[in-house]
Amino acid sequence: MELALTAEERAFAEEVRRFLRAHPPETFPVEGVDAGYGSGAHSRAFLQALAAEGWLAMCWPKAYGGAERPMFFKLVLFEELALAGAPFGPLAGSWQTADAIIEYGSERLRREVLPAIARGEATFWQGYSEPGAGSDLLALTTEARRDGDDYVIRGHKIWSSHAGIASYGLVFARTSREARRSRGFSMFVVRNGTPGMDIRPIRSLTGDVYHHEVFLDDVRVPADLRLGPEGEGFVALLNGLDSDRFWGRFYKGPALARVLAQLVEHANTTVAHGAPLARDPVVRRRLASLAADIAALRLLFWRAACRMRDGAPITYETAMAKVLADETGQKLARLGMELLGMWGPLRRGSRGAKIGGELSHAYLTSLGHTIAGGTAEVLRTTVAVRGLGLPAEPRARAEAR
Ligand SMILES: Cc1cc2nc3c(=O)[nH]c(=O)nc-3n(C[C@H](O)[C@H](O)[C@H](O)COP(=O)(O)OP(=O)(O)OC[C@H]3O[C@@H](n4cnc5c(N)ncnc54)[C@H](O)[C@@H]3O)c2cc1C
Repeated sequence: MELALTAEERAFAEEVRRFLRAHPPETFPVEGVDAGYGSGAHSRAFLQALAAEGWLAMCWPKAYGGAERPMFFKLVLFEELALAGAPFGPLAGSWQTADAIIEYGSERLRREVLPAIARGEATFWQGYSEPGAGSDLLALTTEARRDGDDYVIRGHKIWSSHAGIASYGLVFARTSREARRSRGFSMFVVRNGTPGMDIRPIRSLTGDVYHHEVFLDDVRVPADLRLGPEGEGFVALLNGLDSDRFWGRFYKGPALARVLAQLVEHANTTVAHGAPLARDPVVRRRLASLAADIAALRLLFWRAACRMRDGAPITYETAMAKVLADETGQKLARLGMELLGMWGPLRRGSRGAKIGGELSHAYLTSLGHTIAGGTAEVLRTTVAVRGLGLPAEPRARAEAR
């Protein structure tokens, strides 16, 4: 494992910093769905600015309009954006979907969707969870029935993040009842607005709408919008979940490092109960302990990145890194709220709001992060089984057969 960036990667990091000076993240709103890592209209405008630099497609094969740059360039871009507090919510989803389309997609998907991703115009929601299927995803009941050159999808998805503002859904559905449990599923790329699709908002703790319920009432999808062979959607999904845990959390190390630096600055410049906060032994210990967690987190992700680059499996590494990322995010946000005291809940724009009013939003959204993309409990089981070689749960063993 080589921990240093190459000269080209360092030059690219400088190029991204130049871009960020020309597009200062501070000018972007932090309220509503543009808050945090951003997914609203302003964040999409930012995505298009990244696309104009050619950075969305830079690692794709030349045949699909890419520049065949090594994968680490994406990591360098992510790090610089996260360290600067720039919005990049839809970026990971676009990259992941593009990789899946390049690997499994039909010619039609490659022709229609890849150019839209490269221009920063296509974003995606994931239609996996259902009211009766979350951790036990294979209990899902949404069905895709073959009808001539099409499939007709019927079912109900829930918690689909950004479904209301994205361009396409990745809908995971059952295509066979007879096949072995894990072989009866397929993945479809369904354009928002397809007749029969009804997307309804779910309001979150912050008061904003990030998540949606999606009702699919005989939604007709051409067969060439299926992602990969029929019945092999579960393989695509598992690879996708590893990739989701990686790309959907890699930014957290640098993003949390940025928040930690803000809290350190706050502790250094704030007097509480007649003494500087920075001299409080409990505050110092908790900040130092979070610094260690964040450093470990960044190394875990870079280790997973090296394995990914070498084509090695990353299920164990990404499960471990995701748990640490989300739990560290919660600890940091909680400490931030405690240090800011009565100013903590104030949002940007409120009189007296500290640290740009970012902490209250970060605190509220951090709560769901240990549930999204696989709960911390389930991922600890993945670490135990895939990493430590402990026996699988009896039910999981039976189902795998
Ligand atoms: C912020 C957020 C964003 C999300 N975005 C999306 C999205 O875009 N698309 C999408 O499809 N879904 C999304 N989800 C849904 C998410 O994937 C599910 O909530 C998650 O997989 C858990 O499923 P569940 O809610 O049905 O809970 P359950 O699976 O019912 O779990 C309930 C509790 O039981 C525990 N549990 C369950 N099984 C086991 C086990 N085998 N061992 C130990 N403990 C277990 C869980 O850890 C949890 O504490 C999102 C969720 C959140 C919170």
